[in-house]
Amino acid sequence: MKIGILPLVVKEVEESILEAVKNYVEGFYSKFGFRVDLLPPTTTNDLFFSYNPIRRQFLGRFFLTKVAEHRRDFSAVLGITDGDLYEEGMNFIFGLANPYLRAAIISLARLRPEFYTEKDGEVLKERAIKEAMHELGHVFGLGHCENPGCVMHFSNSIIDTDHKGKDYCEKCLNKLKRNLEGIG
Ligand SMILES: [Zn+2]
Ligand SMILES: [Zn+2]
Repeated sequence: MKIGILPLVVKEVEESILEAVKNYVEGFYSKFGFRVDLLPPTTTNDLFFSYNPIRRQFLGRFFLTKVAEHRRDFSAVLGITDGDLYEEGMNFIFGLANPYLRAAIISLARLRPEFYTEKDGEVLKERAIKEAMHELGHVFGLGHCENPGCVMHFSNSIIDTDHKGKDYCEKCLNKLKRNLEGIG
């Protein structure tokens, strides 16, 4: 069983971030028999129709559809983009997932410390790992969790992301284990 990680590049998705996410996701999901493959970076030139020049953001659902096209023999595919994403009714989204497509996308745009005029460069890795684990949780059937320390807690802002941990709480973990049984 394999999970794919697909870089969807607007300007740059750093190798160091991809490696950090891959290693963390693999460290966790290998316990359930998954391997994690880093796919070659894909351009987003064919996604510019989803760009809103007034908002200067991309509509996230089209990125998700593009990720789903790369499912092939993967159990799940996670896209990582540097493009700033939004959905109708939301100012922005950190990520988006669809359990039926077994696909998810996360955006680094609002995880970057520069976005908040912070200086700590290392924090981007931590945040990317949290959002990746969160969206993969959705892919495998988890909903949002009321525990603010659980990675499945909904992040309204970067403060919530920084507050929560990188792992599933016991309740979410038990549900995840059940959901992962029988996934090929
Ligand atoms: Zn969520
Ligand atoms: Zn939880």
